[in-house]
Amino acid sequence: MTSWLAGRRTGSSLAAPEWAARHRWITRAALAQAVCLALLTGALDHGRGPAALVLLGTGLPAALATRETWPARVRTVLTTLSLTTGAALLVPVTGEGEAFTWMLLAIAVCALYQDWVIVPTAVVVAVLDFAVVVFRPHELDPYDLLPVVATLLVCLVHHRTWQLAEDTARTDPLTGLGNRRLLAEATDRMLRQDGPVSVLFCDLDGFKGVNDSRGHQFGDQLLAEVAARLGAAVRSGDLVVRLGGDEFAVLVPGPAVHAADVARRLQTAVRVPVQLTGRPVTVTASIGVATTATAVRRDAEELLRHADVAMYQAKATGRDRVVTFAPGMAEAVLDRVELAEDLTAAMAAGDQLSLHYQPVVTLPDGRVHGHEALLRWRHPTRGPVPPLQFVPIAEQTGAIGALGAWVLRRAVTDAAAGLTGGPGPSRVAVNVSAVQLADEGFVDGVAAALADSGLPPHLLVLEVTESVLADDVDAVCARLQAVRDLGVAIAIDDFGTGYSSLSYLRRLPVDIVKIDRSFVTDLARGGSATTLVASILELARSLSLQVVAEGVENAGQQAALADLGCSFAQGYLFGRPAPLPERVLLED
Ligand code: C2E
Ligand code: CA
Ligand code: CA
Repeated sequence: MTSWLAGRRTGSSLAAPEWAARHRWITRAALAQAVCLALLTGALDHGRGPAALVLLGTGLPAALATRETWPARVRTVLTTLSLTTGAALLVPVTGEGEAFTWMLLAIAVCALYQDWVIVPTAVVVAVLDFAVVVFRPHELDPYDLLPVVATLLVCLVHHRTWQLAEDTARTDPLTGLGNRRLLAEATDRMLRQDGPVSVLFCDLDGFKGVNDSRGHQFGDQLLAEVAARLGAAVRSGDLVVRLGGDEFAVLVPGPAVHAADVARRLQTAVRVPVQLTGRPVTVTASIGVATTATAVRRDAEELLRHADVAMYQAKATGRDRVVTFAPGMAEAVLDRVELAEDLTAAMAAGDQLSLHYQPVVTLPDGRVHGHEALLRWRHPTRGPVPPLQFVPIAEQTGAIGALGAWVLRRAVTDAAAGLTGGPGPSRVAVNVSAVQLADEGFVDGVAAALADSGLPPHLLVLEVTESVLADDVDAVCARLQAVRDLGVAIAIDDFGTGYSSLSYLRRLPVDIVKIDRSFVTDLARGGSATTLVASILELARSLSLQVVAEGVENAGQQAALADLGCSFAQGYLFGRPAPLPERVLLED
């Protein structure tokens, strides 16, 4: 980052309008000084010629500095030249060595809106003063050099102070990385050169949960650790900044493949468990990539916005992913935002959301053992929206808290009344999102729903996916155990699709494993799917877990599962998810 800070120093950390305002007033002061100096030259009997020369020498640069079409740097130099030359000329014009102190004032005025010109000015001052001393060797007095030395020191201190201020304005205090401003300036600078440039937008998954459960101090330490890892994972020409919260960005010059490569390295670096205090914490990163290689315009702001949109898409499609921006993606994101708003309205309306129930059967006989509650949303204009589309949105907006609580209450109430039409309560499985589990009040919510409905706790199953482990594993395990202590069973859903299945299965307090549909689909063909299912069953047996095979669609799959010793199954073969029969609804 140091090289980026050094590279971007503009000589002014002022915003453009502020710079322009100060430049205007300082240039006016330079013009006034030029006029006064010329008058003084005339008044002190130096003659018209020298007075005109003084006016031209100090007034012309100041006049040119008012040209707004010229680069700011050039205009700054011209004004500075006018002010300092004028101040220096005061010595020969007045014949007083003390007049030199005016130079200090000129430099102080210039320093109000610039930095880089200060040191060269100090050198010029030294040379000029030396010249004055040399021209009057008979009066040579070592004390004459004192103001020069003082001026030099003041200039150097000022220069360093300004640099520090500029660095601070572009540094994130928590992580020591650059900030949004440094990114914007660096991107701008890079875009002015030829060649492709990419921006990576990196947002941590599950950081909020860690921050809430372990405290802000821990969260800050975690961010600092992640920042250090990101910094170490990039190449020397890349720039990592913290945009705020748990958002980081990386500027990557070079072809798009470089950016993809960096994104992969960042993901790997973040994923390594962080050991601070207590148990290690694992976070992941969702990364959006935008590159000028495929962009219509070379614009820094647009590049970052596109990377943000792509990151949003990465989050939406399951976190811990890298997504590259593509045209149309912004519209898709907008669509999601619209859907999120409609979902809030649907929750308030009450008649658009409902639960369907799909039977879970025992093998090999196919008798109904229980049901899984599956949420349905009938949108007023779009029609049915699949849960795989709106549940992730609800998770992202936080709406899943209220939605999940509603599903749980509805499901236990229905189950208490009986889902099969027969007398007595039924077993019901309810899907619980990782976001719900991250909530401290989750266990109390489950206990209250059970108590209010009257459903015996042993008839409730909560289904969670391995994604719950993306958050604080300790807190999640403690909550799951607390729910189990109530008598409720825990199932791991979509087993086999996560990356950490086996290692975490021992630690997670679970009772049931649900084998993902993708393994069941390939069962009838034999081969590796059969081996996989057999080994999951073997593992479950050794850990005394029940196994439910999901997505059983034909008799071949059923037979294969029964042969392998799987005790429970679910799928279209036994029954599709369906609303409760009228009779049960009427009893409601
Ligand atoms: P899931 O928990 O794995 O639910 C099983 C999904 O597989 C359901 O999709 C179900 O309709 C489908 N399915 C069942 N049998 C078969 C089959 O034989 N063949 C095929 N092709 N599919 C079958 P659905 O209802 O669309 O739900 C999708 C996902 O949405 C669920 O996956 C679950 O992750 C989520 N979801 C649904 N309801 C809720 C809810 O109330 N809360 C939460 N957090 N997530 C929910
Ligand atoms: Ca499920
Ligand atoms: Ca599943």
